[in-house]
Amino acid sequence: MANALLRSGILIVALSAGAAVAHDPDVITQYSTLDALKAGLYDGDMTYGEMSEYGDFGVGTFNALDGEMVGFDGRYWRITEDGVVSEVTPDIETPFAVMTFFDHDITFDLPAGLDFKALSDELNTHLTSANTPVAIMITGTFDTLTVRAPRHQEKPYLPLGEALADQAVWHLTNQTGTMAGYWFPDWLGNINAPVWHLHYLSDDHSVGGHVVDLTTDSGTVSLDPSPDLTILLPQGVSFNEAELGAP
Ligand SMILES: [Zn+2]
Repeated sequence: MANALLRSGILIVALSAGAAVAHDPDVITQYSTLDALKAGLYDGDMTYGEMSEYGDFGVGTFNALDGEMVGFDGRYWRITEDGVVSEVTPDIETPFAVMTFFDHDITFDLPAGLDFKALSDELNTHLTSANTPVAIMITGTFDTLTVRAPRHQEKPYLPLGEALADQAVWHLTNQTGTMAGYWFPDWLGNINAPVWHLHYLSDDHSVGGHVVDLTTDSGTVSLDPSPDLTILLPQGVSFNEAELGAP
């Protein structure tokens, strides 16, 4: 698989995927792009077994948009629209996943009583740069938590905005668990969402999903700024012929 390495804003095409990035905690490796997902490219040719070579931590989805993926400490979990949580096996394919070997570079206490907007504002104050992607892990307790998972999509696929109009949503209380995710800068907005994007898994592995809102109680936040970003581009007709970057 061809491997495009984005370094200091210069796109370099590497000949062998993985060779330059093995177990480097300062590298985020992403398969496909947000624009490709927005265009409805929901079937990837990448397995989570392959993606796990690029990290022990990450978020993503599954072919046909069939669930949310949250991974940390080297294990990967799937939350589907029926609310079932299962461990991801290496053969399962993804159209979009973002991995890193997580490093607890910056650690601070999770403030209590924050909703998602207030938490995002607080996290922004801990960014070391407005221009460098960051991986984030939160372990803690949450008085309230709203999470969601997309519906399994049928072909022909709708664009992401329409596909996500109807999702499974769960309103939870008194949660204890882990959030894994990323923040990307605005200038990489075609690659990944320039927001604090968090996926959750409860400690008892019973519930999880993409975090929509929350009320924090207590816990720990760890940030891992990552100056290197590797983008693995899908190798197929649907990606090669897609209209990406359209307004
Ligand atoms: Zn998500």
